[in-house]
Amino acid sequence: MWMKLSTNDDMVEYLNRKHLIRSDAVKRAFLQVDRGHFVEGKECYLDTPLPIGFGQTISAPHMVAIMTEELDLRKGMKVLEIGAGSGYQAAVIATLVDPAKVFTVERVPELVDRANRALERAGVKNVEVLEGDGSNGLPKEAPFDRIIATCAAPDVPQPLIDQLGEEGMLLVPVGGRGYQELIEITRIGGKVVRRKHGGCVFVPMLGKHAH
Ligand code: SAH
Repeated sequence: MWMKLSTNDDMVEYLNRKHLIRSDAVKRAFLQVDRGHFVEGKECYLDTPLPIGFGQTISAPHMVAIMTEELDLRKGMKVLEIGAGSGYQAAVIATLVDPAKVFTVERVPELVDRANRALERAGVKNVEVLEGDGSNGLPKEAPFDRIIATCAAPDVPQPLIDQLGEEGMLLVPVGGRGYQELIEITRIGGKVVRRKHGGCVFVPMLGKHAH
């Protein structure tokens, strides 16, 4: 069914009907964080990636929903994101793990500032945006309960696996520059288990352990 997507509530309703948002907790987080704070224009509630400058994009809402549901977040979890971009994905995660803090690394300094401004507008206080190469992870804050990359690497960066805590989960798009597969890595009892999810398209992760 065609739906008018002119408010954040419309967007959440659409994602819910398509079963992309499945849990009440994720639905509440999406309702609480208005995507309009993170990208300008009246298209901001459409289910599509949108430009945020510097050749980068805010991910499509369905992809944010799929990844957030998959992460199975609970209050107090320590989370690292690679690729802050607009700050939207980090804000949604932060709402779910509050009062714990989300760390998000971004390589483009101007986007660090942009994300900080958007997070302030949205009233999200438990996100720390750091400038740097996230393909190294964030050793000084490791281990993490969850790590999510919203940019695509040619293979799973080893530092991200190493920085997963026990029962930790990593989600990372892996593949070429045009098309990737979403890979899930879990660490259980010292064993590393790798699972494939569906296809996806993300901007490349540029850095030491990436493109
Ligand atoms: N999560 C974002 C989507 C970001 S797009 C959102 O919700 O809006 C991917 C981002 O990853 C871009 O901003 C890009 O600059 C950044 N990026 C690419 N390689 C990176 C790296 N090695 N370390 C940190 N950020 C990186």
